[in-house]
Amino acid sequence: MAEALNDSGALILFSGGQDSGTALAWALSRFARVETVGFDYGQRHSVEMQVRQGLLTRMRAFDPAWDARLGPDHVLDLKGLSAIGETAMTADIEIETTAAGLPNTFVPGRNLAFFVMGGALAYRRGLKVLVGGMCETDYSGYPDCRRDTIQAQEQALRLGMEWDGRIETPLMDITKAESWALVERIGGKPLVDLINEHTHTCYRGERGARHAWGYGCGTCPACELRARGWAGYVAGEA
Ligand code: ZN
Repeated sequence: MAEALNDSGALILFSGGQDSGTALAWALSRFARVETVGFDYGQRHSVEMQVRQGLLTRMRAFDPAWDARLGPDHVLDLKGLSAIGETAMTADIEIETTAAGLPNTFVPGRNLAFFVMGGALAYRRGLKVLVGGMCETDYSGYPDCRRDTIQAQEQALRLGMEWDGRIETPLMDITKAESWALVERIGGKPLVDLINEHTHTCYRGERGARHAWGYGCGTCPACELRARGWAGYVAGEA
C-alpha cells in the first residue's frame, strides 16, 4: 500500500469470475482510478451478471482506499455474439470438445470483441490501461487467451484509435494456484476468502454446492480447473 499509485486510469474487463476478480484486486492495488466493464452477450446463465455486482460491493467494503479508487461499472450489450452462432456458453447444449480440438464453450471472437468494446470505452473515459484476466498457462485451449493474440489486439487498438494505451494481463504467465497466491499477497487471507466466496466460474451456472474452492457443479472444465488450482494453492505449490 506504501507504493506510489499509477495515475493512468485502468478499465478492467470484469465478468465476476475468479480471474477477472483477481485482475480487479491487482488493479485496485496499483492504479489511482479503476473502472469496470461487463458484457451481456446472451450468456445462458445470468448468475455471472448477478455475481459481479455483489463482488464489486465486497471489494469496496474490503478497503476504504479501494472504495475511493473504484469508479463506475459499465455493462455493454453484445448480444449479437449469440446471434452469430451456438456454443455451449450461450445455448443449452452439452459441453464437449469439438472436432477442431476446442471446447465448445469457445465463443468465436468473444475476447476480441470485448477488447474492441473495452478499448472504445477506455478511450472515451480517458483510461490508459485495459486489464484482462486472460491466462495462457493452464488455459482451456482458447486461442483468444494467448499472449500473441493480446499483443496483436493491443497494437490494433493503439493504431486504430490512435490510443496511447496498453493492455495488461497480470495472470498471463501464472497457474491457477499462483493466482490464489497473488491474491494473498495483495490482501491476505481475507481477500482470498472474499474472491473464493464471491466469484463465479462454473460454465453451468450452478451456485448450489459450496466446495472448498467455491461454488459450482464440480464437473465442468471450469470447475475442474478451479478445483485443481485451489488444491495446488492449499498444498503450497504456488
Ligand atoms: Zn461447473
